[in-house]
Amino acid sequence: MTLHQNLIAGEWVGGDGVANINPSNTNDVVGEYARASAEDAKAAIAAAKAAFPAWSRSGILERHAILKKTADEIMARKDELGRLLSREEGKTLAEGIGETVRAGQIFDFFAGECLRLAGEVVPSVRPNIGVEITREPVGVVGIITPWNFPIAIPAWKIAPALAYGNTVVFKPAELVPGCSWAIVDILHRAGLPKGVLNLVMGKGSVVGQAMLDSPDIQAITFTGSVGTGKRVATASVEHNRKFQLEMGGKNPFVVLDDADLSVAVEAAVNSAFFSTGQRCTASSRIIVTEGIHDRFVAAMGERMQGLVVDDALKAGTHIGPVVDQGQLNQDTDYIAIGKQEGAQLAFGGELITRDTPGFYLQPALFTEATNAMRISREEIFGPVAAVIRVKDYDEALAVANDTPFGLSSGIATTSLKHATHFKRNAEAGMVMVNLPTAGVDFHVPFGGRKGSSYGPREQGKYAAEFYTTVKTAYTLA
Ligand code: ADP
Repeated sequence: MTLHQNLIAGEWVGGDGVANINPSNTNDVVGEYARASAEDAKAAIAAAKAAFPAWSRSGILERHAILKKTADEIMARKDELGRLLSREEGKTLAEGIGETVRAGQIFDFFAGECLRLAGEVVPSVRPNIGVEITREPVGVVGIITPWNFPIAIPAWKIAPALAYGNTVVFKPAELVPGCSWAIVDILHRAGLPKGVLNLVMGKGSVVGQAMLDSPDIQAITFTGSVGTGKRVATASVEHNRKFQLEMGGKNPFVVLDDADLSVAVEAAVNSAFFSTGQRCTASSRIIVTEGIHDRFVAAMGERMQGLVVDDALKAGTHIGPVVDQGQLNQDTDYIAIGKQEGAQLAFGGELITRDTPGFYLQPALFTEATNAMRISREEIFGPVAAVIRVKDYDEALAVANDTPFGLSSGIATTSLKHATHFKRNAEAGMVMVNLPTAGVDFHVPFGGRKGSSYGPREQGKYAAEFYTTVKTAYTLA
């Protein structure tokens, strides 16, 4: 099997190979991927530092052309890359192809942003002086990504980093190096100068830590767990470095008495179980007012019976496997915790077998949960959700906001009054009305508040906040 290597200073370099395993079929090895050392990470950082002066001054047309070419190749290969994604991560083929298209759209968007760079010219408060406000690249950007969006998250960090003239050291999640390798290969062949983008696949504790400890990285953008996010924060403060964190969620989905039942059920099932519940915007707290509660739970049960859990690559599969054994253990541990805490396991939650050995779990719905239970407070990151019964809208809103997190928040209602009030008062970075808590556009800001996120928003033109630094220049006329 060919070894997919790391890219350092424009050269593909080897290392110990690690097998990338298909969670739908653990006998299927997706590929061998090199594991970088701390020394490799240092070499990658040095290469990015050396490449920065030229790249940061490169013309906008060169950057535009490389990002556009990358977008076009991703789009042209969407079926193949989508398949690779589903094979290494376990989300369904439709989800894998959809995510790949989104990555192509992101590169296309930021190719356009290269041509739209602008500043401001304002009058000085003093006579005969002009003031210019411009944005400049930050320097070497470290990119650390999680396993649950193997192509979209790398795309939404790499594309703006390069578009605004930064150089990059990129460390993807160990579980899913395939899509990351593929987009780095595409960008490399699209003509990026040596050292502008470096790929170091490997362990967080080795490669990621070497990045955190380096004084030569000026900004780190991270998506992953709360624990690692805190390490990124602490190390970055130490180095006076910019940092951006996207971490967990415990997103509420509120269902009011006046909701359209089928809209509510579709949105709740999507929020809780699609992509196997492995989205930071997934909803695992479904907060339902008492007038609709029993009808809603019955309809959820019926809808859940129709969900096909199987090999991600099979036609007709709605829910793929859990990503690996460790995550599966976490999911089943939380199912046991929910039962111990007194919630009722109304549907699902069993380990299931299929034709191939994989990490298959029947999506689980608890009822009679309270917001104080651990299953309502801690991020599970699997297809496990709990229904919390409340009296009315006011209680629903209070429960929705009673969480340390604040990424996404949803409501199903036909009341303009409640929808408007919820949009205004939900303590979250993103609010969804009659839509799932997950599933966002690529051209508008993404991010949360409270314990979910830190730093400027990602995506869309708001990405410039993180990937640039502002300069104010004064000139005597
Ligand atoms: P999860 O695996 O739940 O997404 P993690 O925070 O463990 O969350 O992983 C997210 C990313 O952070 C991965 O690329 C991982 O390798 C990386 N990572 C883990 N530990 C460290 C660390 N000590 N320093 C830097 N990066 C790390």
